[in-house]
Amino acid sequence: MKQIDLRSDTVTKPCEAMKKAMMSAELGDDVYMEDSTVNKLEKMLAQIMGKQAGLFVPSGTQSNLIALLTHLNRGEEYLAGQKAHLYKYEAGGAAVLGGIQPQPVELLPNGTFDLNKLEEYIKPDNLHFAITKLLCIENTFWGKALPLDYLDDVRNFAKKHSLKLHFDGARIFNASVKLNVDPKDLTKGFDSVSVCLSKGLGTPVGSVLCGNKEFIDKARRYRKMLGGGMRQAGILAAAGIFALENNVERLKEDHENAAFLTNELSKIDLLNVEKYELQTNMVFFEIDEKYIEPLSNFMKERNILMSIEPKTRIVLHKDISKEDVNFIIKSFNKFFNS
Ligand SMILES: *Cc1c(COP(=O)(O)O)cnc(C)c1O
Repeated sequence: MKQIDLRSDTVTKPCEAMKKAMMSAELGDDVYMEDSTVNKLEKMLAQIMGKQAGLFVPSGTQSNLIALLTHLNRGEEYLAGQKAHLYKYEAGGAAVLGGIQPQPVELLPNGTFDLNKLEEYIKPDNLHFAITKLLCIENTFWGKALPLDYLDDVRNFAKKHSLKLHFDGARIFNASVKLNVDPKDLTKGFDSVSVCLSKGLGTPVGSVLCGNKEFIDKARRYRKMLGGGMRQAGILAAAGIFALENNVERLKEDHENAAFLTNELSKIDLLNVEKYELQTNMVFFEIDEKYIEPLSNFMKERNILMSIEPKTRIVLHKDISKEDVNFIIKSFNKFFNS
């Protein structure tokens, strides 16, 4: 029986064609910048994001950390969402390794800042305070694409307060596909953009950090410092190139599957399913505590993997088909009807 893993879109496995592309990649030593496949991927993604240069790194966490280290000095701070990945889920790396202070700020349920509130967190130039230098946004945030006009507001806000801008675009292609816009329309005005290849795009490893040439030159030194300088990394970058060429448009299918699942699950009275028009490849539902264990066991028996919690996240991805979605719905209905 096929395992249906809904815990994350990081669980995707490379398809045969992707593996073939990896095996036939032209390789060199990327620390010497001689791996033509890595060079090609970095150039491709920088172009897609509308930036001058890119840097291939092992993970999204390292990409965000390098961005923070490159933008900020000791005693400076960045603003980020209270539940932003680069604040909450990256083990405090920038504080530990960079002496950089985070200033987390509560986000609204749609993943946006209340910019009037945010303004209050910018510290005046006074020797008591850390120096507020950078504003970070995450898009998509918990599967939600941020509205386009909000991004304009963020750009204006940053300009007004002389803040630099970082875009954690781990799932930026989910946002661009959902909104049917060019990724450049999302990232314009941002000083750096981090993109994950190993989530919905389906590669085994890797992220790319994009920015202007000066920024990436500086970032390259931090990558080396953090142990992220890889040698014949083209074998991994080839998967990224394959993904950019083949796995972007298909994200639409994941969004359709998520919307269908949202619709069908919301017919079940005991599930409180979240509905939001700019939701992409995730479904969230709340459930009474007493159902958590029996539902988990029921799903496990049917080879459906989910981390069921009071608020559960289901993630759709390329290894979950329409048939799988039907099976998931059938399973939920069976559980709640018996
Ligand atoms: C997954 C994720 C990251 C980190 O990526 P890893 O490759 O898991 O380190 C960063 N930001 C966001 C928004 C993410 O979803």
